[in-house]
Amino acid sequence: MSDPPRPPGMLESDFQQVLAAFRAIAGQNAVLVGDGAAKPYLDPFAPGDAHAHEASAIVMVSDVEQLRAVLSVANRYGVPLWSVSTGRNLAYGGAAPRLRGSVVLDLQRMNRVIEINETLGYALVEPGVSYYDLYQALQSRGIGLWLDPAAAGWGSVVGNTLERGFGTTPYGDHAAMQCGMEVMLANGETIRTGMGAMNGNQDWQVFKAGFGPSYDTMFMQSNFGIVTKLGIWLMPKPEGYMLCRYTFRHDADLDSIVETLRPLKLDGTIQSNAVIESAVRWAAGASARKQWYDGPGAMPDAAIETMARKLGIGRWNLRFCLYGPEALVKARRDVIHQRFVSIKDAELTESPYTPAGDKPEGGGDRSQVGIPNLDAFNLLNWRGGSGAHIDFSPICAPLGRDAVRQYRMIKEQAARYGFDYYGGFTAGPRSMHHIFAAIFDSDDPAQARAAGDLLKTLINDFGAAGYGQYRTHLALMDLAASQYDFNDHALMHMSETIKEALDPNGILSPGKQGIWPKRIKERDR
Ligand code: ADP
Repeated sequence: MSDPPRPPGMLESDFQQVLAAFRAIAGQNAVLVGDGAAKPYLDPFAPGDAHAHEASAIVMVSDVEQLRAVLSVANRYGVPLWSVSTGRNLAYGGAAPRLRGSVVLDLQRMNRVIEINETLGYALVEPGVSYYDLYQALQSRGIGLWLDPAAAGWGSVVGNTLERGFGTTPYGDHAAMQCGMEVMLANGETIRTGMGAMNGNQDWQVFKAGFGPSYDTMFMQSNFGIVTKLGIWLMPKPEGYMLCRYTFRHDADLDSIVETLRPLKLDGTIQSNAVIESAVRWAAGASARKQWYDGPGAMPDAAIETMARKLGIGRWNLRFCLYGPEALVKARRDVIHQRFVSIKDAELTESPYTPAGDKPEGGGDRSQVGIPNLDAFNLLNWRGGSGAHIDFSPICAPLGRDAVRQYRMIKEQAARYGFDYYGGFTAGPRSMHHIFAAIFDSDDPAQARAAGDLLKTLINDFGAAGYGQYRTHLALMDLAASQYDFNDHALMHMSETIKEALDPNGILSPGKQGIWPKRIKERDR
């Protein structure tokens, strides 16, 4: 058993005083130290050495008073705190901190569903509320609203929304559906954004802006404050739905798929986010890689072709869901089909029209109908061993030429590092999240390192081509942030100015998204 790290530059005696103070505030069982207790806070999918992002301790607070007291101690001693809601940010670092030796501030005990308003279609929740919890609350109270779950339903509504996660219903852009926040600043002061800034106002969760500058997005993917409450809009339960899936036979179809999809997304004919998936990603749900290829390096094209034909899947596969009264759903389906049928060999499979509330037939995607699940984890067995992944997540305009260019760039580079193109695009109305997962066996250190190296290369390649990431793993945050270089990184300079003003002791999540307080020296990062 190795000793856990300490916050950089802190004496052991001071650290022990900090831990004693945290115990006095939150209780004996609220402070975890040592290998056994801290292990769940290591990144299980680390692309390299998980101990590079090891916490020194964990403190769990149960309410805002405890949180304020913890911040006061952290300010006094200069303790870096890494806030997580449920800490399940897998593929991007899990619950682990960016700065080794930080104390993880775990907010999972603050887990109240404060309000659900069926008439106006929103919920107000604390950080520890998972998608499962909110779903349970909606079900048990018989409320006719749907949530849009993150890929893994055990994650928190607050954590995922702050990371700008996305799902596959019409409410799939989680950050866009956020309305109103309560935030504790580093000095312990509580603010409310938008209409929440006004005593006695009832419109906090229905109007985002308030009066004057609007700050909600400033607390997303940042280290400027700790969000203690968040409002999220929920979708009125539709009358029914139909899950649709297209298979496209040819690798070269990607251009036409994106070109056909864009106008349908832009004018709202397809209401949900639409997901375009490569053969490998689709096959991972139905088979193991070694059934199709067991040789060295990335799977050759001929093996992918054979696999796709035998499984009856496309080289590209498109899925989306249509919602509403049956006649409208069928009319949408007909319009959409008229367009896609012009792509040679395209085939549509649709589920029967199903009343909302009933589960999709034949194991269809439950996330698309607002039911949280953990199905995504089934896909990790693709390469065998202890399946792990790290995601490369560039933004792609919904243009065929950009999609094809990004696909080729990733596929070629991935093959050099021995990885298959396990990827796809989630298309919103005006942009697509291109998500490529480097799947590796976390028990194989060489594979884990190769995954990390591949991601570094891709971030650099894409930066040079003018493409940026929407989110990235802890180990790559500085690199991803450095690609945003307009006017000599002026945006980062502004973030650093805000950071110093709001958090002069640099205690909140140092290094998050590449934003460092001055106090943390380069060599400690
Ligand atoms: P999830 O469990 O939903 O995947 P996490 O709790 O791991 O999400 O949070 C993801 C990231 O979002 C964290 O690493 C942290 O940087 C940020 N974050 C989470 N909760 C908060 C919060 N309440 N306030 C500020 N930032 C947060």
